[in-house]
Amino acid sequence: MAFELPKLPYAYDALEPHIDARTMEIHHTKHHNGYTTKLNAAIEGTDLDGKGIEDILSNLDMSNAAVRNNGGGFFNHNLFWEVMSPNGGGAPSGELASAIDDAFGSFEGFKEKFSTAAATRFGSGWAWLCVHKGGKLEICSTPNQDNPIMPGVGCDGYPILGLDVWEHAYYLHYQNKRPDYISAFFNVINWDKVSEDYAARK
Ligand code: MN
Repeated sequence: MAFELPKLPYAYDALEPHIDARTMEIHHTKHHNGYTTKLNAAIEGTDLDGKGIEDILSNLDMSNAAVRNNGGGFFNHNLFWEVMSPNGGGAPSGELASAIDDAFGSFEGFKEKFSTAAATRFGSGWAWLCVHKGGKLEICSTPNQDNPIMPGVGCDGYPILGLDVWEHAYYLHYQNKRPDYISAFFNVINWDKVSEDYAARK
């Protein structure tokens, strides 16, 4: 069964002014759609056909560039759309807030460390907040469409928040000003969703 491009849980213009509608539309209908189509082509007729995306990525042969790049791209963007919301922003509460304080000292400490991971990823890639079994949080970044589910990549936990720092994610509106895009991302983070994933994956 082929993977399908998910619908966005909000309109393309819903995250304005933080992320513009044109960027969202191209990102979803061209980039994410492209990863999805190419992933399906790469697994068709192989023993990966019919497996779930987490199963495929966690057991991935990292020399399989087509599945690595496009399977990563498919999964990463699925998460990215879900962890943003027009009602997002602010700070988390409950056990996720406590876990952030434990790992990073404070929410401000988390913001600073996550922003640095996103800003210093050279070229294209992602910044991640990951949870380890037992609930400990860790921040890391990965190049290209790699993610922490893949063997030997990133910080080994399960990603519950991801920020796309490919230029296609921000260049139309922010041009070279990646730090402004990173800062704007904090206004749309869907902490309810991140908290749900934390509880489910800890
Ligand atoms: Mn992207």
